[in-house]
Amino acid sequence: PKFVYDFTEGNKDLKDLLGGKGANLAEMTNLGLPVPPGFTITTEACKVYLASGNEPAQMREEVSAHLAALEERMGKRLGQADDPLLVSVRSGAKFSMPGMMDTVLNIGLSDASVAGLAAQAGDERFAWDSYRRLIQMFGKTVLGVDGDLFEEALEEAKRARGAASDVDLGAGELKELVAEFKTIVAKETGRDFPQDAREQMDLAIRAVFDSWNGERAKLYRRQERIPGDLGTAVNICSMVFGNLGPAAGSLGGGTGVAFTRDPASGQQGVYGDYLQNAQGEDVVAGIRNTVPLAELERIDKSSYDELLRIMETLETHYRDLCDIEFTIERGKLWMLQTRVGKRTAAAAFRIATQLVDQGLIDEAEALQRVTGAQLAQLMFPRFDEHAKTELLGRGIAASPGAAVGKAVFDSYTAVKWSRSGEKVILVRRETNPDDLNGMIAAEGILTSRGGKTSHAAVVARGMGKTCVCGAEELQVDTKQRHMTAADGTVVEEGDLISIDGSTGKVYLGEVPVVPSPVVEYFEGRTDPAAAGADELVRAVHRVMTYADSTRRLWVRANADNAEDAARARRFGAQGIGLCRTEHMFLGERRELVERLILADTDAEREEALGALLPLQKADFVELFEAMDGLPVTVRLLDPPLHEFLPDITDLSVRVALAEARHEPHENDLRLLQAVHKLHEQNPMLGLRGVRLGLVIPGLFAMQVRAIAEAAAERRAGGGDPRAEIMIPLVGTVQELEIVREEAERVVAGVEAATGTALGLALGTMIELPRAALTAGQIAEAAEFFSFGTNDLTQTVWGFSRDDVEASFFTAYLEKGIFGVSPFETIDKDGVGSLVRSAVEAGRATRPDLKLGVCGEHGGDPESVHFFHEAGLDYVSCSPFRVPVARLEAGRAAA
Ligand code: ADP
Ligand code: MG
Ligand code: MG
Repeated sequence: PKFVYDFTEGNKDLKDLLGGKGANLAEMTNLGLPVPPGFTITTEACKVYLASGNEPAQMREEVSAHLAALEERMGKRLGQADDPLLVSVRSGAKFSMPGMMDTVLNIGLSDASVAGLAAQAGDERFAWDSYRRLIQMFGKTVLGVDGDLFEEALEEAKRARGAASDVDLGAGELKELVAEFKTIVAKETGRDFPQDAREQMDLAIRAVFDSWNGERAKLYRRQERIPGDLGTAVNICSMVFGNLGPAAGSLGGGTGVAFTRDPASGQQGVYGDYLQNAQGEDVVAGIRNTVPLAELERIDKSSYDELLRIMETLETHYRDLCDIEFTIERGKLWMLQTRVGKRTAAAAFRIATQLVDQGLIDEAEALQRVTGAQLAQLMFPRFDEHAKTELLGRGIAASPGAAVGKAVFDSYTAVKWSRSGEKVILVRRETNPDDLNGMIAAEGILTSRGGKTSHAAVVARGMGKTCVCGAEELQVDTKQRHMTAADGTVVEEGDLISIDGSTGKVYLGEVPVVPSPVVEYFEGRTDPAAAGADELVRAVHRVMTYADSTRRLWVRANADNAEDAARARRFGAQGIGLCRTEHMFLGERRELVERLILADTDAEREEALGALLPLQKADFVELFEAMDGLPVTVRLLDPPLHEFLPDITDLSVRVALAEARHEPHENDLRLLQAVHKLHEQNPMLGLRGVRLGLVIPGLFAMQVRAIAEAAAERRAGGGDPRAEIMIPLVGTVQELEIVREEAERVVAGVEAATGTALGLALGTMIELPRAALTAGQIAEAAEFFSFGTNDLTQTVWGFSRDDVEASFFTAYLEKGIFGVSPFETIDKDGVGSLVRSAVEAGRATRPDLKLGVCGEHGGDPESVHFFHEAGLDYVSCSPFRVPVARLEAGRAAA
């Protein structure tokens, strides 16, 4: 293979091979933009180096050949004493990655060539400034010398001279500084700063390769789920100098960054920063104050105009927002980097629709420019941006949302206070499984340690709870029950704080929260077409319209009451994919369930069921009304019965107390016996789902009757109920057949009694591996399948989903066993492959089998794409996730 590409040979689609920076430098070169000449060493060379510990021999030869060509073209040799060619050595992986080696500028300078550079430029100060920068950067990033040593020496030189900034140091001082820097290198590394230009370059290239496996880079890749084997490219780019002073008759220079539009709002305009008399790294390092880019017009009008022209060229070419690094050398503009720029969620939607209006992209492409995660971000309530706030510190935005509450420093207090109606924020140095109850009780979680995969972050995301983690500027003292901010402010237990899980900011006091305008729109409370409508809302509306007209998947909601159903409908749900009937057995109805469980005779049982029937029926009538004309899948009772009985400990205490006091406790005693009888070691694998229906006579029949009678009543009232009856936890077709026969008898009875044909469908969940494996047989008795991917994940992996997230998932994520919890994003290889084969087998038996999914995965962006590809008919998710699922279903089909 070829290991080295000239900038004229590559293009923007070669990011895998040339890295993002190299691919885009090549693209700009080929667009005819002013890019300093250079070449790129491929990621393939890096991979060989990392695997074998040596650069491929052929790479060294190719580098020599490309360097010779570059020298020929520039008319000078690398490090040539009287007129040195200088280059930068720049890392550049496929994805931009903090933690990778920094760039080294001015490679090729040495004791011999520094005078030549000074003479050629007619600027002695510039030459020594460039040399001290080289030793500093090279010393730090290639030789591993502590950067503070150079910084301190530089500070000392400024102090001695009374200089406010490095530009105030003259040639003489800089020359002395170079000598000092060289001493530091010799002392720290036991060798002299290399004087040979090619050796400098080769060492820098190696250092870039090695930095791929630096600890910080590895950590970042794990967090961002970037594969560890991509390797990095290295760019060798001839230097241009923004720190070169003006020559007679020419302007000076500087360096800057620019965006083709505002990455925060999407607005078009001139955005960026410029720094006069500087080299590139000065802007990012923030060592001197930059000026707004617009000022460049005054400083150097012709470069400014050219830059604006180039920005337009780039936007039209990339058809997207670009960010740019540039340098001006004595009035001549040079482009040093561009890439499609990062942006906020709001800007993503606005830019996508603006580009459609400009005719740069079509609607299908606009869908690819936004994500469900961004939409979800826009749906969280947020802090009022006009409110006056007092910032305490900043951490990692681990789980979005805006939470306000009283600071508490332990879980016990969090639970106690929240029980008495207080809103609390749980503040810990870091959390562990013992904190779970406190996390559940809290409005939000704040930690001073740990990153995006820390326990607090993982669990909070799983619970959908606001979390800021790793706020290191905050000193958390759980023993003294307070925390201290960097400015000395102390927050005591009980003080109000506000945390923003979307920005990582932590505020003192209560910051007012405003509802998201995007939710107001989904709720139907704002009209996107009205004059003066929020631009973001208008953009979201347009993108959602594209998504709806593109997607193949239907989107339903999981809802079990009329209120949730109505909201889901407003959010665009096309039916209910999962109505959990157990929620209809709670509250005052518990007593009826107790009676059912305690019944000794058929008569007692029938009486209890008879009392439940009208209640269930009334629930269904409301639900069918809210979803009139759309399918409603009702799942028959699923959870183990002991969940409806009192807690075994509470009950034992009650019985013991009553006994001691010689009070009557006949009923409690019977209950306690029942609880004991129903107790299971593994309730999740116990008497639940279809097993309940088969063991408790009349239970499922009562539920089916309630559904059928509710449907008949709606129909009689002119409604259009579309009920579907779903049997949970089926493992074999025999179970389903027995339930089915009984259900058909009941439905036929209701149809005969009311004289209405109800057209009820009956189907099953596929949530056990055996069901998936025998889907072909099961489809004989089922008109539809709904994949219960929560239980399916649980049973395929053998993970208890109620426990694992808090116990060992953090370790699994840190070790990279999976990048994300399989309960959050479907495990395509394992669970997903069962889904695929069940789809195929089910359809083979029954071609018109309807297929859906109703686990949490139904609202997860990546999983939605999988379900689209697997050929399902619909996904079902919580009402709030419905818009996200609609958007992602559209993106999957676009
Ligand atoms: P990063 O990825 O950290 O931005 P870069 O490789 O882009 O690293 O370089 C760091 C800084 O040095 C940038 O401001 C860049 O514009 C500047 N720079 C890189 N190469 C050159 C060069 N050949 N001439 C002048 N400035 C350069
Ligand atoms: Mg850069
Ligand atoms: Mg289940």
